[in-house]
Amino acid sequence: MRIGIDFDNTIACYDGVFHAAALERGLIPEGVGTDKNSVRDHLNGSGQKEAFTELQGYVYGSRMDLAKPFTGVAEFIVSALAGGHELFICSHKTRHPMLGPKHDMHDAARGFLLANNLVGNVGINPANVYFEITKEEKMERAASLGVQAFVDDLPDILAMPQLDNSVIKILFDPNGQHVAETHFSRVDGWPAIAALLLAQAA
Ligand SMILES: [Mg+2]
Repeated sequence: MRIGIDFDNTIACYDGVFHAAALERGLIPEGVGTDKNSVRDHLNGSGQKEAFTELQGYVYGSRMDLAKPFTGVAEFIVSALAGGHELFICSHKTRHPMLGPKHDMHDAARGFLLANNLVGNVGINPANVYFEITKEEKMERAASLGVQAFVDDLPDILAMPQLDNSVIKILFDPNGQHVAETHFSRVDGWPAIAALLLAQAA
């Protein structure tokens, strides 16, 4: 089976990352909640909206070392490849931050994949990794690759028209943010994705 996988918040987990980076840069006090939205709300609410935009560029461009692969994604990749499945990463992100130093966020994401052995000799073929600029280009890419299943953390992405109804659309929802979503196969983690897809013929 040809399986397409999103990158941000599907492979790469940013839990606590924005909090750690904001603390390191002296942008927030210790007591602010550790999730990204709490950091954003604190900065927006204290007249530092641009600081949050710049913080995103800093994290996605030069602090991907703070991010971690989600539990089970490395095992999924090894099992899928061993079972003869073909894996593709299809993501969209801007190349350079809107504010601050001109980090290359595509290179940083590829560096994260290599550093964690998700791509490379024991992982996904680097030629199967696509970072596009827009979400439309991302889903056109997935469609042109002929994926038979696609994994993403956002319902809006899975609902886009580029993938037809024959594609198995898997909503990666580790924090239960989309419990009311009924259009897609909603899963709580990578072991569930393995159970769903890897029993099927490659
Ligand atoms: Mg995502």
